[in-house]
Amino acid sequence: MANQDFPLIFELSQESRTGYSLPEFDVPETNIDEQLGDAFVRKSEPDLPEVSELQIMRHYTALSTRNHGVDSGFYPLGSCTMKYNPKMNEDVARLTGFSHIHPLQPEGTVQGALSLMFDLQETLAEITGMDTVTLQPAAGAHGEWTGLMMIRAFHEGNGDFNRTKVIVPDSAHGTNPASATVAGFEAVTVKSDDRGLVDLEDLKRVVDEQTAALMLTNPNTLGLFEENIEEMASIIHEAGGKLYYDGANLNAILGYARPGDMGFDVVHLNLHKTFTGPHGGGGPGSGPVGVTAEFEPFLPKPILIKRNEEFVFDYDRPKSIGRVKPYYGNFGINVRAYTYIRTMGAEGLKKVSEYAVLNANYMMRRLQQEYDLPFEQHCKHEFVLSGKRQKKLGVRTLDIAKRLLDFGYHPPTIYFPINVEEAIMAEPTETESKETLDAFVDAMLQISQEAKDDPEKVQEAPHTTIVSRMDETKAARKPVLRYLKEE
Ligand SMILES: *Cc1c(COP(=O)(O)O)cnc(C)c1O
Repeated sequence: MANQDFPLIFELSQESRTGYSLPEFDVPETNIDEQLGDAFVRKSEPDLPEVSELQIMRHYTALSTRNHGVDSGFYPLGSCTMKYNPKMNEDVARLTGFSHIHPLQPEGTVQGALSLMFDLQETLAEITGMDTVTLQPAAGAHGEWTGLMMIRAFHEGNGDFNRTKVIVPDSAHGTNPASATVAGFEAVTVKSDDRGLVDLEDLKRVVDEQTAALMLTNPNTLGLFEENIEEMASIIHEAGGKLYYDGANLNAILGYARPGDMGFDVVHLNLHKTFTGPHGGGGPGSGPVGVTAEFEPFLPKPILIKRNEEFVFDYDRPKSIGRVKPYYGNFGINVRAYTYIRTMGAEGLKKVSEYAVLNANYMMRRLQQEYDLPFEQHCKHEFVLSGKRQKKLGVRTLDIAKRLLDFGYHPPTIYFPINVEEAIMAEPTETESKETLDAFVDAMLQISQEAKDDPEKVQEAPHTTIVSRMDETKAARKPVLRYLKEE
């Protein structure tokens, strides 16, 4: 990261300058070396910069602004629901009754925390229309895998060992076929029709007595509501398969439609998307799974139950698929999601869907002037455009995404879903103002104009960032994460 305008903390170093103050020793100072043992005592001074507190403050503050986040700018990354994370969630998650407890504490001493978990499970069951929910899975993909393992246990419990296939639409999130494979199934693709919905004829063709489940996202990954969902449910159920709902993005249907009512048997949610857990940059997630009553015996153990007015963990679950995570899930994210749900209330959650859908349609219709819209109908919480028209001018979707960086925006998701050429997939979320949406659309329209007048400007973007185009493979495989002193 040797960049001219970057405060290179090592180069600012002056001998004996300090930026820290340590508290007094609160352990005996004698024989520390001996007490620690040879293996833990330094043989030489660490090679650290010697700088003042103010210098180190500026260093980290400068670093923090190098990253794009929801708190620094618009982030319309489709299928990711980069919505505002209310700061009240953080206050609640930091209450000592939640943050200073240990998972191995006796249940009698953490009844408040357990009661929150219980309430959250019940609330998510209500929101999804399922009978029971587990909070164990740590993320969406982990929830998918957990759900599929339960479906597998269910079929095998019926002596049905031939159900080896999981059907996945071609527009699905990549985690769907991956989870199916990791859970030991063969992923079978079902095609989309020319309206972007699952092709019923193709579904009838691929379904058979080996079908374990259909994994479906609804609204699907094109942001379109699967209108034939009931017919699809009966096709799968009649063949003896189960219906899995990928509920990572619930933003379009909260309070309006429930997977349980559509006929789904198993559903996962991403609390770090719809329910405002901070994510991106690898923060912890939470992917609870809801099931209908017939799947309850297979839930990961332990399950949380109420016995004699007390919350306790029940480990006596002979048919359980076992634990899927140490302890009980990412508790801190669950506290945030619970806080969000309680702050919004039922009416507030309905408003989320209304504004998420309104914002997406507003942006889509404005952008349609300049960008191809492969599926004409109204969208739900997100939409997919195609950069085909710009590609003919030599400007690819990747170039458009890079040019957006110059305007201070995180680009939409690109080249996904894979069934749309030069895909641009945007999800504004309900938390953005009309002014923000308009400013983003104006930037997109300007870029489209540039593609006609000055294509090189777009092809060579970004022009204003610290680094321009990098080797993305190398950046991921061989990242340089620390300062390398010039020898
Ligand atoms: C984000 C997402 C997932 C995966 O969730 P992770 O928490 O990233 O594992 C699965 N399906 C859909 C539709 C998603 O948008």
